[in-house]
Amino acid sequence: MDGLAYIPGNEPENPGPLARYLPLTADGIATAFLAQHSRPGDWVLDPFGAAPRTDLEMARLGYRVLVAVNNPVTRFLLETAANPPSQADLRAALAELAAARKGDERLETHLQSLYLTECSKCHRQVPADAFVWERESGVLTGRIYHCSCGDIGEYPATEADQARATSIAATDSLHRSRALERVATPHDPDRVHVEEALECYLPRAVYALITIINKLDSFSLTPERRRALLALVLTACDEASALWPHPAERPRPKQLTIPPRFLEKNVWLALERGVEFWSGGGQLVESVIWPSVPGEAGGLCLFDGPMRDLAPRLKDVSIRAVVTVLPRPNQAFWTLSALWAGWLWGRETAAPFKSVLHRRRYDWNWHAAALYAALKNLSDRLPLNAPLFAIVPEPEPAFLSAAMLAAAESGFDLTGLALRARHDPAQILWRRSAFSHADKKPAGIDAEVVRRAMLSALQERGEPVPFLHLHAAGLAAMADDHSLRWRPEALAQINAPILAALAGPEFVHHTESKNPEIGLWGLAELDAATDSLPDRVEMSIVRFLQKNPGAVLRDLEMALNAELPGLLTPSLGLLRAVLASYALETDGRWSLRPEDSPSTRRADLETATHALTALASRLGVSLQRQESPQRLILWQDSGETVYAFYLLASAVAGRILRQNPYPPESSLLVLPGGRAGLLAYKLGRDPALRSVAERWRIVKFRALRRLSEMTSLTLERFEKELSGDPIEPPEQMELF
Ligand SMILES: [Zn+2]
Repeated sequence: MDGLAYIPGNEPENPGPLARYLPLTADGIATAFLAQHSRPGDWVLDPFGAAPRTDLEMARLGYRVLVAVNNPVTRFLLETAANPPSQADLRAALAELAAARKGDERLETHLQSLYLTECSKCHRQVPADAFVWERESGVLTGRIYHCSCGDIGEYPATEADQARATSIAATDSLHRSRALERVATPHDPDRVHVEEALECYLPRAVYALITIINKLDSFSLTPERRRALLALVLTACDEASALWPHPAERPRPKQLTIPPRFLEKNVWLALERGVEFWSGGGQLVESVIWPSVPGEAGGLCLFDGPMRDLAPRLKDVSIRAVVTVLPRPNQAFWTLSALWAGWLWGRETAAPFKSVLHRRRYDWNWHAAALYAALKNLSDRLPLNAPLFAIVPEPEPAFLSAAMLAAAESGFDLTGLALRARHDPAQILWRRSAFSHADKKPAGIDAEVVRRAMLSALQERGEPVPFLHLHAAGLAAMADDHSLRWRPEALAQINAPILAALAGPEFVHHTESKNPEIGLWGLAELDAATDSLPDRVEMSIVRFLQKNPGAVLRDLEMALNAELPGLLTPSLGLLRAVLASYALETDGRWSLRPEDSPSTRRADLETATHALTALASRLGVSLQRQESPQRLILWQDSGETVYAFYLLASAVAGRILRQNPYPPESSLLVLPGGRAGLLAYKLGRDPALRSVAERWRIVKFRALRRLSEMTSLTLERFEKELSGDPIEPPEQMELF
């Protein structure tokens, strides 16, 4: 395995429809990868089709992106993103729906009337934006509305609100059975699962949605408007469910579990809001259904089915690279997709995907098997060494194990694995191996190889790391060793040597918790001569900005990640802490602060040295100087060291703190005020370093200048002054 440089991406500003169910990833990662490994016009395969944005991004750049997409809802998202409906079509489609008749009413009026509530100020009847329910008691507790009189907000529900909800619930079974019917026939063995899934809809939502869907059947619309209307109804289906905790910022449901307090949103308003979600600008992308193929300019080629069905048909397409966002198990989205597909497109469309309904719990062994089923027949269809690049959203140990096991068993050799922070997607690169897996002798897991890999990962970081990082180091060692093989309870077997290693005396768990996945793991004995990752990052950023003043963040990240690849990838938090200490941003461009230019800092260090020298003679102590490996000044009295001052222009203090031979009480770091926050940040992230630094003190250049100007200074007074300047937390950085 060589080091994979983590590719930075951009957080999407508008992540698009149903994003709360889709993998949490960033834009620009896949295309940056492709730019290094292929050329526009090449065929790229996405065997999972779980992240429409990523497929679109590649197609837009001119690649021919073949996507196996088994979920009809995701397929619709892909097609719609390739050719988004215009705002005019969305509005026109909604207007046609609004004007449809329900009895002697307009449909809009009828649907809005389901949500009427009395304004507490002007007493008019207004449609509520949403109601608030409590799951346990089943009681409607609140209502949220905005009235034209200006009254707006959340109020307790009234008896009339409760009565309206009860009267709609009285006819629930009729509408619910229609909703059921569209997904499963009365004799369908899956019917019971559909019924269960439908429980995340309240009666009013079922009634409103089924009323709209019945209208869709009888409506004649142009194909463009029909597509626009389907889009609006699809997002309304999601907005209408009870899977909206209240209050909550950004719920990301993975299970069909109704939150303890949840919103019942107004379905008509959800349709109206959909106009914003769906109307996209952006460049159109050709999108065809396999076996048609997109032109030279690139585009999407959608295979309507799972990868295992596509693989045998890949003979005539020369796939240059496999690039994918790995899906996580998502029972909520998969089950709802089966429901929504039935409602929008009918039973036949929903049928192939309906198997997701049987399964209410997805464990990681199951998921590993599913990933393997998709990948296993793929490597034979690829050229030797063809890359398989996976973005792994919300990485956790079992997810990484499942991915690594599935790829290894499918005949891919690990090239690199890069992890950044816990919330960033992991990135893994494999290549099609030269030998088919069946030809290789199955190797057992060598616990010693795993242990050594974990130790060396920690030694290289030079700081404690989360379990995920050590788990990844162990996994990578198994992949290199070809011992990631399919066996019963494979994930537990992969985990065992990792956990066994951590029980050894070389590893220290910096937490009270017994759960190995919580807290940080460090080394009992860190080689004191190693620079920790944060120290290396600081030096590297300063060097980069000296050479490249006015650099954009992305270029800095790319350079840093290339220098510190794989499991060393620095977090954005660390990078920002260093920038906050050293650099200024103007219009997205970063430069060192004027006071942090090397010549100014050299002059500062000289001044500090002079101040300490002058003070020593005033206070009647003798002085010893040392220039390397550290700039050190000792104050001595009768041969005893009174103070050891380490002079620094940086916060690169790890080695100094660890190698210092003097008592910590009399050891001091002398540094610029602007470094204090960065040092505090470093101590905050590393409990081992924090305990070494516990009784140290810092003297800022400014404080030293003040001390040297004080008249009638004594050694006692000096000691007292030193104690009054603690290391400041990074929040106070703004003060400098
Ligand atoms: Zn009012």
